[in-house]
Amino acid sequence: MTAEDVLREIKGKVRATVPPSIDVSDVEFEGALVVLYTKHPHKFAEKEDLIKQLAKMLQKRIVVRPDSSVITQEETAEKKIRQIIPEEAEITNIYFQPDVGEVTIEVMKPGVAIGKQGKYLNEIRKKVNWSPKINRTPPMQSKTVHDIRGFLRMMSDERKEILKKVGRRLHRGVSSGEKYVRVTGLGGYRQVGRSCSLLTTQDSKILIDVGVDVSGDDSSTPYLHLPEVLPLETIDAVVITHAHLDHSGLVPVLYKYGYDGPIYCTPPTRDMMTLLQMDYLKVAAAEAKKIPYSGEHVREVIKHCIPINYGDTTDITPDVRLTFHNAGHILGSSIAHFHIGEGLYNIAFSGDIKYEKTWLFNPAVNHFPRLEAMFLESTYGGKDDFQPSRQEATDHLREIIKRCLKNKGKIIIPVFAVGRSQEVMIVLEQLMADKEIPQVPVYLDGMIWEATAIHTAYPEYLNNKLRAQAFQKGKNPLLSDIFVRVDGHETRQKIINDPESCLVLATSGMMVGGPVMEYFKAWAEDEKNMIVFVGYQAEGSFGRRVQKGWRDILITSGGNNQTLKLNMMVETVDGFSGHSDRRQLMNFVNNMSPRPDRLCFGHGEEVKCLDLSSSIHKKYNMNTMALKNLETTRFV
Ligand SMILES: [Zn+2]
Ligand SMILES: [Zn+2]
Repeated sequence: MTAEDVLREIKGKVRATVPPSIDVSDVEFEGALVVLYTKHPHKFAEKEDLIKQLAKMLQKRIVVRPDSSVITQEETAEKKIRQIIPEEAEITNIYFQPDVGEVTIEVMKPGVAIGKQGKYLNEIRKKVNWSPKINRTPPMQSKTVHDIRGFLRMMSDERKEILKKVGRRLHRGVSSGEKYVRVTGLGGYRQVGRSCSLLTTQDSKILIDVGVDVSGDDSSTPYLHLPEVLPLETIDAVVITHAHLDHSGLVPVLYKYGYDGPIYCTPPTRDMMTLLQMDYLKVAAAEAKKIPYSGEHVREVIKHCIPINYGDTTDITPDVRLTFHNAGHILGSSIAHFHIGEGLYNIAFSGDIKYEKTWLFNPAVNHFPRLEAMFLESTYGGKDDFQPSRQEATDHLREIIKRCLKNKGKIIIPVFAVGRSQEVMIVLEQLMADKEIPQVPVYLDGMIWEATAIHTAYPEYLNNKLRAQAFQKGKNPLLSDIFVRVDGHETRQKIINDPESCLVLATSGMMVGGPVMEYFKAWAEDEKNMIVFVGYQAEGSFGRRVQKGWRDILITSGGNNQTLKLNMMVETVDGFSGHSDRRQLMNFVNNMSPRPDRLCFGHGEEVKCLDLSSSIHKKYNMNTMALKNLETTRFV
């Protein structure tokens, strides 16, 4: 059966089920959804059972959208909405998504805006025919989130066409013949960087992560030119586990070379990866490096993105269903679980995982309804890779900060914008609130502020404790007054020349450029000051040299070489990693439910992948392997 046949059949069943008094003007695929367009959206809303009944009968997720002929023009609709919702709900923003017929209303008090038993929502539905969604106003405004929304709204017609095309493609039906499931390593196996895997079945070709190795030059891209990958038009879907560039850095390149299908990831991953990809382009341009794609291709990614929340299962090809689960690593990071065939096989890709409750996230999920095979990261999988706990790391940080501030020094903490900086912020806020360290300003320089704002836009992706505090000023540690945003050169110079003590969190995390270098150059020669490393410093990076204790450091600025005498204190605090250490990886496997038949290791130096693979095989008697790049393994 073709997609057209399937659609015709669905239309017939819908028309036979929906009472004639309720209009159904059209039925269309939109990605995995079946969308019913109607001139009577409020009548549908009143009949919840009808939608449930249709979903059950069709075995599809059903969405009802207002027919475009009945929805009120945006300006008029906004006026009416403002009249309907009581003033004390405090509307801060209203935005329309014409591609899905939805209007999102951001308010300070959602309970008031919804009204008793959804009274005001029903009224909006009746009067303007848009489907209303009430969101609580995020406490910080993120420019990225705002820009992406604006862009999607501008592109709504095109986006509708994209979703329609995706829907038709994935409803093309399953072929007969021999069934198989196989995975090819395209990058990030027995190494860290350029993560990329190809999952193939008789009906699907799916790419999982398309990363770039930011430290590499020649071999920084995955093996996308293999015959089984090309032409890119034959790929059905691309799934991204999280926003770090070693997983998402080259997604835009796919659109440069002919891919025009969907990207599946969580909503925060979409926003965060856009931020990181745009920054990657900026940094590459500043360093006169080869730029693999342009902003135009980043926008293609946004247009083709189908965001999926944790726990929502969705069809992505005729024979594969995808579900994301929390990976505990960074905002929106996920383990991608694939259900293949009708119960034929289940396989999951971990992305990067943290199997410990951190200051930001709940631990990675390791319980699944079904699972036969899993791909697991091995970054700290070596036999000696043990890290202190979060509490030990906090104690260590407290001691060294106290020591430096007592002597009126200044402290620089180089951080990555995403993940680690927010954890360090929470710890610093707590230490200052408990008066365990003196209260001094904490300056945030680089992309940290924007990345933090994206965190506050998605409280449901934070751990239980933070989620509860998210909207309460005075409770949410990320909103504390101790944090001061640095924007621009002038403010930075003021801070650099200010004699008072302070803390600076600045990018880049490995001191390869970025604002952190300005503070470092100015403060390195004073022995009262301190630099604290909380993140991984790659071999060959500037940060690694400082960390190792080099005392005479050559710096190039504006084409001039300058030798710096490094007198400041140099400290390293381990234990803030977003990766599981050896013990946590072993526990993750030990506590898995169900335990899969096969485990496959990647995302780690060769020795670590091999060591973890053989240790788990010996200890738990499981079938394990460390795949190589370019190697394919068959599961069914
Ligand atoms: Zn990562
Ligand atoms: Zn990674």
